[in-house]
Amino acid sequence: MDDLALGLWAAQRAKGLGVEFREHVEVERLGRDGVLCTSAGTERFDRIVNVAGPWAGDLLRRSDIGSRNRLDLVRGSHLVVSRPCPSAVLAQVDGGRRIAFILPWKGSTLIGTTEVRQALGEPIACSAEEREYLMRFHDRVMESPLSAGEITSTFAGVRPLVRSSDDPGRATREYEIERSGAVLTVFGGKWTTARSLGQKVAEAVERG
Ligand SMILES: Cc1cc2nc3c(=O)[nH]c(=O)nc-3n(C[C@H](O)[C@H](O)[C@H](O)COP(=O)(O)OP(=O)(O)OC[C@H]3O[C@@H](n4cnc5c(N)ncnc54)[C@H](O)[C@@H]3O)c2cc1C
Repeated sequence: MDDLALGLWAAQRAKGLGVEFREHVEVERLGRDGVLCTSAGTERFDRIVNVAGPWAGDLLRRSDIGSRNRLDLVRGSHLVVSRPCPSAVLAQVDGGRRIAFILPWKGSTLIGTTEVRQALGEPIACSAEEREYLMRFHDRVMESPLSAGEITSTFAGVRPLVRSSDDPGRATREYEIERSGAVLTVFGGKWTTARSLGQKVAEAVERG
């Protein structure tokens, strides 16, 4: 799916329902008392919902708010390849531990993805090792081998996973909602569970 387009669609719907957006404003600190310090100033709210994804735990730490949950940050990288993709392939990799894919993508081919532990300060980008790993995966399942010159771009994202295992591939994909005074923090989460997560967060906000 095109997650950027879906995210923008959801934001547009929220705007239509009266949600006010403040873009390009960094939250610097959250207070259990509802005080929010941002690059644009300080305000007080009845409730704050911390949905900073991979940065959610770091934001709590910076705000001196303790937490029982910890996040594993796991990068996933992708290659965009100029050749057209006649059919989609999903295959088990790494001894059946994970699934990787080759998919048609806007007239090109998308190859993904990887699972590499990430630290918050590191660049969120496809590494040379991931590029080689994905090329090897392609060549194992497709007839005609890929040349480096066919890669038109790469992109990467960081998954926020609730820490549940030393092996990020086995970490739970469930989410946790944790309350600290006026602050509700979401740990983890996926697009596929975003709607039910949103309902649970709304119920938690209403419960007060
Ligand atoms: C490689 C990869 C594959 C995935 N595959 C799937 C899949 O197959 N199915 C699925 O359902 N989900 C999948 N996901 C998960 C999904 O895309 C999201 O990563 C997940 O739902 C977390 O979303 P989020 O909104 O919590 O975090 P994000 O989308 O990371 O959003 C967090 C936002 O908070 C902002 N932010 C952070 N700190 C601050 C601050 N201090 N002040 C202001 N703003 C701040 C960031 O700029 C960002 O916009 C995948 C993710 C990745 C990376």
